[in-house]
Amino acid sequence: MKPSPKRIVIAGGSFGGVNAAYALRRALGAEVDLTVVSKDAEFTFFPSLPWVILGWRDAARLKIPLDKPLARRGIRFVSGEVRELDPEASEVRTEDARFPYDVLVIASGAELDYAAVPGLGPQPGYTHSTFTTDDAVRARDALARVLSQGQGRIVIGAAPGASCIGPAYEIVMMIDTVLRSARKRHRFSVAFLTPEPFLGHFGIGGVGMFPRLMADEFAERDIESMTNAKIVEARPDRLILSDGSEWRFDFSLVIPAFLGSPFVRACDGLANPKGFVTVTPHLNSTRYDNVYAVGVAVAIPPVGPTPVPVAVPKTGHLTEQMARAAAHNIVVELKGGTKVDGLNLSGTCIADGGDTAFYFSAEPFLPPRNKIVHKKGKWARYLKLAFEKYYLAHIRYDLPVLHFGW
Ligand SMILES: Cc1cc2nc3c(=O)[nH]c(=O)nc-3n(C[C@H](O)[C@H](O)[C@H](O)COP(=O)(O)OP(=O)(O)OC[C@H]3O[C@@H](n4cnc5c(N)ncnc54)[C@H](O)[C@@H]3O)c2cc1C
Repeated sequence: MKPSPKRIVIAGGSFGGVNAAYALRRALGAEVDLTVVSKDAEFTFFPSLPWVILGWRDAARLKIPLDKPLARRGIRFVSGEVRELDPEASEVRTEDARFPYDVLVIASGAELDYAAVPGLGPQPGYTHSTFTTDDAVRARDALARVLSQGQGRIVIGAAPGASCIGPAYEIVMMIDTVLRSARKRHRFSVAFLTPEPFLGHFGIGGVGMFPRLMADEFAERDIESMTNAKIVEARPDRLILSDGSEWRFDFSLVIPAFLGSPFVRACDGLANPKGFVTVTPHLNSTRYDNVYAVGVAVAIPPVGPTPVPVAVPKTGHLTEQMARAAAHNIVVELKGGTKVDGLNLSGTCIADGGDTAFYFSAEPFLPPRNKIVHKKGKWARYLKLAFEKYYLAHIRYDLPVLHFGW
């Protein structure tokens, strides 16, 4: 009798979940029964959301419904939220269904921890955000209103413990670019508040000369910055810091800290206190061998102590590498071979500044490093845009992996 296919369930349908599903299907064909359960029925290319805020991209064009691309590869797609994980029974549960598994891959990213800072976040809070297309569209409309007033105060920043700080850099530089090209920059104050100990730290201790590059860039653009900033409260027109200083704004966008998914936090022994899955270098849980995690869901300790907490960013590029490494290790588990270290990652990023962009790659991603490349130029903006087009096509058609930029 033919053995029945292994059941692999993937929680999350984004950079981690889709890439893991495609890699497993390619490697194992009909030997696995693959199911992706995702709270969002669409894939969103998050790196382009800052462009939506500036009105440069249409949010609807950054989304792809997941059902068809996955179905084409024989991957079952379930639109739903995993509410419970029972690792002893090897089963995840949504509100109305149960999914038993032989192997589970957790790729459910994070929750946005607005509650950690009173008043933070879009309604009912007072600051804008960039983590969903709705957030970006709301921020776009509010920013357009403030810019049309002809003068005002703009404060962009990140909350204590934030990890995904890169988009805040992009947004503040892009707003500066728009104001300068409209000859209105002199009528606006533009400030940047970050928990990082220095500009360009990014939760990874900086990359080569990048921190100096960022300090120069902010100086040239007259962007007032405060590092080690600990935002403790947001009010309708100001941010309050732990040192008592108040930063008044007409428009503010603040990146929140992340918390792991509720079903991960609720599962005993699976995660660190913030709810991120503690994994071995093979990306399976330190507690449950048949539970893997990839991307934002993975616990990666900070590179070192900082006066205000800053977390390691688990970027799209890192997430994709983890997804492929986890898939490889699952295949090895089933068929034999040599496992890979899924935490030995290199990273490539492009941060858009509006009139120029910054490209960097670091190998490995966390210090000390063997190789660093950084470059600045308009060409990197076009590369980022080209990468968006490629990536959306990749999600639709499972294209070969390309790494020319983020
Ligand atoms: C504005 C912005 C700009 C960025 N720019 C860059 C960039 O330039 N370069 C770069 O490398 N990275 C960038 N990133 C980071 C990149 O988007 C993330 O690294 C990537 O999205 C992480 O993928 P993930 O699959 O781990 O998690 P996520 O993308 O967060 O996806 C989580 C998935 O899980 C689903 N889910 C959540 N909870 C559940 C549940 N309980 N049950 C089932 N499904 C669930 C969600 O619906 C979603 O499909 C940016 C992010 C943002 C927000």
